[in-house]
Amino acid sequence: MRVRQLTLTQSALAAIGLVLACSMMLGASLLWHHYGALSSSARTLARLDAFRVVLDAAYHVSAERGPTNSALGREPTEPDPVRERLRAFRTSSDAAIARIPASLAPDVAPMRAQLDGARGQVDALLARPLTQRDHDAVEKAIFSMFAVYDATHPLTNAAMDKLLAGDSALIGQALVAYMLGELRDYAGRLGSYLVISIVRGEPLAGPSQAAFDQVRGRVLELWRLTSSQTSTRAAPLVAQAHQATEELFFNQGIRLLDDTRQQLDAGRYRGTPESFTDVLVPSFQPIGQLRDRFIAAVADRFNATYRHARADFIVAAIGMALVVAVELALLFVSRRFLFRPLMLARARVVDLANGRLHQPAAPGQLRSEMRDLFQALETLRRRLIEREQLDTERLRLTARLRRQADTDGLTGVMNRGALERLVERIARTSKKDRQIGLILLDIDHFKAINDELGHIAGDAALRALAQRLQDGLREEDVIARFGGEEFAVLVLDGSAADPDMLVELAERLRRLIEAEPVLLDTGAEVAITASIGIAAASVGPEMWPELLEAADAALYRAKREGRNRVATAG
Ligand code: GH3
Ligand code: MG
Ligand code: MG
Repeated sequence: MRVRQLTLTQSALAAIGLVLACSMMLGASLLWHHYGALSSSARTLARLDAFRVVLDAAYHVSAERGPTNSALGREPTEPDPVRERLRAFRTSSDAAIARIPASLAPDVAPMRAQLDGARGQVDALLARPLTQRDHDAVEKAIFSMFAVYDATHPLTNAAMDKLLAGDSALIGQALVAYMLGELRDYAGRLGSYLVISIVRGEPLAGPSQAAFDQVRGRVLELWRLTSSQTSTRAAPLVAQAHQATEELFFNQGIRLLDDTRQQLDAGRYRGTPESFTDVLVPSFQPIGQLRDRFIAAVADRFNATYRHARADFIVAAIGMALVVAVELALLFVSRRFLFRPLMLARARVVDLANGRLHQPAAPGQLRSEMRDLFQALETLRRRLIEREQLDTERLRLTARLRRQADTDGLTGVMNRGALERLVERIARTSKKDRQIGLILLDIDHFKAINDELGHIAGDAALRALAQRLQDGLREEDVIARFGGEEFAVLVLDGSAADPDMLVELAERLRRLIEAEPVLLDTGAEVAITASIGIAAASVGPEMWPELLEAADAALYRAKREGRNRVATAG
């Protein structure tokens, strides 16, 4: 199969098209890469927020125990600011749980059920006067509130799993945030153990003592584990919250817990659950704040990553759009301002070379180089037109000169020179046995016409005679003015071979000449007649002198025998 060769324009446009396609592919892969980074950081941000929301809900559920403990130590009087506070805490717990994303709903339901059950136990106790509140029931209610927090663990784990599935490098931060939540809850539990004891009005029971010590140890351990991530090396706001926690909880709060426990053990404690929680709860505050700020700092970093990824994506998109736009412009400009004009110029040059000079003006909207090219082509075209006109003129002049050289100026018929050249050519090219006839005519008494009517009348008579000969003969018969008032007719067809036909032709001419007088411009008329001598000869080297001599002799005879007649040679 023969492959069709591409034109230059097609090749160049195809090359530009190929470059365009390649850069679009490169750009698309670059954009895809940046889009991947962008959507991955957006996804991590969303998961981080979900994790934060879950930890926040757990925090609220844990914090709800503060006002619960306070209320459990008070009479059911209305209005009661402690119960108001409990209601407010429960409302914000509910709101925090409601914020948990729907994707984690399966793990919310058991925790919600646990919370409703625990609240029910608390409310049943709160409905009774203080004296009728069974201490074991109070302890049970407080422990069931602990269990609500424990029920948030599957939820926290699910949110953390999702987060780490997207970006496993976050494990350290996720664990610290998780541990800070645990820290807040365990710190609260220490208070709750003491509240149980305060409500009972007796020292911590054996198992509670062990639990208290265990939880206290765990709180310190959690603090030790999280400190490296939240202290001096952390973001300023995180470090501040760390400092505040150290101050408020690990100095004052723990001391308050230890002192209260000692007093309870010694039977010297005089406070109520409410007064105890009022003093203790503020020391927990910075723990929640620390966790919030810690997660916010992680989110900040991811926000920055997200913004970078977005900026990269935008820059790549703009860059790619620019590259494609420039290439498209190149395609358009080169097609319109380079290839098309070049192809047009080529077509014009071909036209000029083939003599097609009628072409339209140069196309509009040309760049300077192309304009020069088309102007040069136009100049070339004009020059060629001028040269063509000159050539035509020259040919016309040459033809006229040749015609003039061959033609008798007065009558417009062939002159003697042309006639002889023609005869010579015929003699050269014809067959030997070809017969040629010659009719010689001489106007009778022409001198008298000149003398009586003037030279102009004589000229008019000559023109009239030439016209009558042309009218009486066929196109192919040759008429020539032989000199003065003598004319010659060369007979080249078959009648030359037949003497009778030749005589008949000469006779017809004679009658034609005498038939009518010549009408002069002056209105005068002049009758003319002519004497005619005829001869015929075969083609050969001596043909013309023989023919001429014979015809001349015949003419002479015609004159002698009385003029206005035809005489034959021999
Ligand atoms: P014929 O032939 O009958 O014997 O008498 P003729 O008067 O015609 O005799 P001739 O041949 O001697 O005269 C020819 C005259 O033709 C002489 C010349 O003045 C005249 N002639 C020759 N050429 C021209 C011309 O071009 N114009 C005019 N008006 N006269 C011419
Ligand atoms: Mg004469
Ligand atoms: Mg004469």
